[in-house]
Amino acid sequence: MKDDNCIFCKIANGEIPSSTIYEDEDFRVILDLGPASRGHALILPKNHYQDVCALDDSVAAKALPLAAKIGAAMKKALGCSGFNVVQNNGRSAGQTVFHFHVHIIPRYDGGPEMVSWKPGEPTKEELSETAELIRNEL
Ligand code: AMP
Ligand code: ZN
Repeated sequence: MKDDNCIFCKIANGEIPSSTIYEDEDFRVILDLGPASRGHALILPKNHYQDVCALDDSVAAKALPLAAKIGAAMKKALGCSGFNVVQNNGRSAGQTVFHFHVHIIPRYDGGPEMVSWKPGEPTKEELSETAELIRNEL
């Protein structure tokens, strides 16, 4: 369940060195080489999954508690007052490495704006039509 051409498979399994902050049998958590803020970390599963839709249920169940644990440690260690948990799926969503990963981005008081969007203003009809389209595929 590793992909020989995947850099995150190699990092997660220790074949390429990284700044590791946590490791267990399922995951390695590393510092991002291009951080959005000091301490920006990536949770990498050791097995290869392209994105959240491909993820094994048991790995998925462990990923969010691990994000919480890492975020809490960042608050103590780095003095950030919050953190974002970000996870991109697909090129249009900003995914650039196609091995599932979770970003944990420390946020500091007075720090720059990030992970934000301009709220749209859909009508009630548009909301209900959109909700129905998605519901029908579940
Ligand atoms: P995404 O855009 O969600 O696919 O995120 C990919 C992230 O991986 C980016 O934030 C990159 O800075 C980071 N990244 C890419 N290659 C490496 C690497 N070799 N070590 C650490 N982080 C990396
Ligand atoms: Zn991989």
